[in-house]
Amino acid sequence: MSRTPRISAAILAITLTTAACSGSGAADTAKDGKPAVIAAFYPLQWLTEQVGGSDVNVSVLTAPGVEPHDLELGAHQVAQLEDAALTVYIKGVQPAVDDAVAQDKSFDAATAVKTLPASEHEEGHDIGYDPHLWLDPSRLATVATKLGERLAATDPAHAQGYRDRAVKTAGALGTLDQEYAKGLTTCETKTLVTSHEAFGYLADRYHLKQIGITLDPETEPSPARIAEVAKLAKDEKATTIFTESLVSPKVAEVLAKEIGAKTAVLDPLESKPSGDYLSAMRANLKTLQGALGCTT
Ligand SMILES: [Zn+2]
Repeated sequence: MSRTPRISAAILAITLTTAACSGSGAADTAKDGKPAVIAAFYPLQWLTEQVGGSDVNVSVLTAPGVEPHDLELGAHQVAQLEDAALTVYIKGVQPAVDDAVAQDKSFDAATAVKTLPASEHEEGHDIGYDPHLWLDPSRLATVATKLGERLAATDPAHAQGYRDRAVKTAGALGTLDQEYAKGLTTCETKTLVTSHEAFGYLADRYHLKQIGITLDPETEPSPARIAEVAKLAKDEKATTIFTESLVSPKVAEVLAKEIGAKTAVLDPLESKPSGDYLSAMRANLKTLQGALGCTT
C-alpha cells in the first residue's frame, strides 16, 4: 500500500480544518435523536449510508479529494469521534484514526472478512494485512451484513431496518461481483500494473495479478526498479499502466513510455468518486476490460 504524500501537509491541514468545522458534526446531529455514525473514508461512508439509511446521521472524516492514508485529525474531529455512537473504519488505512477511535464504539471492517497479506512493497505499517478490502465487492457485501448487525445492536429500536438494508446492500454488491466475475473471465492478459497497490483484493477475487510500480512511497522509484517492473510488464504482455486520480501519473507515464504501453485511470475509491461506489466500480470494470483485452 502506498502512503505517498499526495497533497502537501500544509494544504492537507487547511482542508481538514475547514472540513472538520464546516460540516455537521456528531454533537449537532445527535439533537434529532438519531445515532451519529462516523465513517472514516468514502467507501465506508457509502456503505454506512446504505445500511444506516435514515435511522442514522452519517458523517465522514476524510474530506473529498483528500488522500485518506495521509489523514491527520484536528481536535474537533477527535471530539467528534468521542461523541459518536459508532465509528466505521478499517484498521491500517489511517494511523490517526486507528489511534483515536474508541474500541468499544467502533467497527473495524477488516475484522469482518478474510484479509490478504500486505503487499511486499508496502511500507510504514505493522498491521500485516492489506487494508484495501473494499475493492472486492464480495468482501464488502460481507462487511455490509456485519455492519447491519452492529448497527442493530447499537440502536435496537431500529434493528429490523438495519438488517433489511444490509440485505439489500449485500445484494447490490453481489450483483456487482457477478458482473466483475463475468466481465473478467476471458482476457488477453490478467496482469494489472498499477501505481498504487490498492487492487490486491480485486485481483484475488477475479484471478488477476497485481504488479505495483511504486517501491518507496516517499520517493520516485529508482531506475533499477523501473527497469525491473518494465521487464515484468513486458513479460506479462501488459499494455496499460494503471494510475489513479489523486496521484501524479508521472511514474506511470515514465514506465508506460519505457514499454510502449498506455496509461488508464483506475479509481481505488479512497475518495468520493463523481458517482457512487457502485457506478465507480462499474467504470473501473469497463476500464479493466478495455485495458486487459477482455471479451464479454
Ligand atoms: Zn491505498
